[in-house]
Parts: sequence; structure tokens; C-alpha cells
Amino acid sequence: MIHDARSCTSTTSQPDVDSFDVGRIERAVHEILLAIGEDPTREGLADTPRRVAKSYRELFSGVNQCPSEHLARQFEQAGEDPVMVSDIPFTSMCEHHLLPFTGVAHIAYQPQHDRVVGLSKLARTVEIIARRPQQQERLTQQIREALEEHLDPAAVLVMVEASHSCMQIRGAKVCGAKMRTRSVGGRWERDGATRREIQDLMLND
Ligand SMILES: [Zn+2]
Repeated sequence: MIHDARSCTSTTSQPDVDSFDVGRIERAVHEILLAIGEDPTREGLADTPRRVAKSYRELFSGVNQCPSEHLARQFEQAGEDPVMVSDIPFTSMCEHHLLPFTGVAHIAYQPQHDRVVGLSKLARTVEIIARRPQQQERLTQQIREALEEHLDPAAVLVMVEASHSCMQIRGAKVCGAKMRTRSVGGRWERDGATRREIQDLMLND
């Protein structure tokens, strides 16, 4: 399987390059304002290109980041009982419309080699992978792949539930619709009974 370099599933760490070009975004937003027939010099819009660039820096901060430094901080814990963290909140940007989608991620894994990671590291992993132009399906898959690569669990299951503003405010305008995606790896791919038990816990707690 070929991975996008930004999926951060390669073992080599990426150079931490800040390729974010504030001036270029400001110019582009200025152009958009002109293109919709607005006056970018009027008081309410004068600072808008700068504000959009600033918020994009935050919303796309995961483009040049990799969760490896967080997932590398593991600690020893004997046993193979499943670990589950549910309702990790995130905000991401749909890559088709550059509009936000928000929701929660649930992560469960079965450790092996007596190694686990802390809750905050899983939350940071979700945040980094979410703060890129994304698709929900790929977000879900990249979280699973990051865990598999760095923690090598016996099994992993990631579920993401999100509302997409591009569905709510334009096109079909389906307000309140929620999209649910799942990615499963390792032992639970074959073990349907355990997988269903974990999924029930994720969605009903
Ligand atoms: Zn969209």
C-alpha cells in the first residue's frame, strides 16, 4: 500500500518545515473578496485577510506535523486488556469545500509487548491528523495507521462521528445528519464478537 507522505505512517520522521505562507493566504482572501463583488477596503473587511490567514495557520497546523513524537512516549503496562478512549473532540476541514467538519473520535486497542500510550497522546494524535485538509474516511484510517505503526497493538479500532458543515449549509442542506466511519486492524478484523462488543461500548457510553 502506498502512503501519502503526510499520512505520517512512514518510520522516517518528516522534516519540521513551516511551509505556511501567511502573505499568500492574505492575498488570496483579498482576491476572493473582490471576486464575490465585495469591497475589501471597507472597515469590516479590512482585517479579514489577516484574520483568515491566522485561523488557517491553526486549522491546517497538522499539515507539517507528525504524531510520532507523541506516540513514541509510551509506558509499560503488563497485560492485554483492551484500552479505550471515547469522545475525543476534533475539528477538521473538508478538503472538498474547505469547510469545517466537527465531531468525536473513539479509539480502542489491544496492547501487546506490554506497551501503552497516555490519553493525552491519543488526543494529540487525533488533533494533528485532523488539522489538515481531510476526508473523514482518511482521517479515521490515518489514526488507525499511526497507532499501528508506533504502538504495534494486537488490534485497533477507530470510529469517527462527525457533522459536516458543507452538508448542512450548502447542497443538500441536511442539518443534523451525522457521518460515522470506522477503521479496524489486527485481531479484531477477524474477531467479530469482540469487535461488536468494543463498538457497542464506544457508541453507548
Ligand atoms: Zn465538503
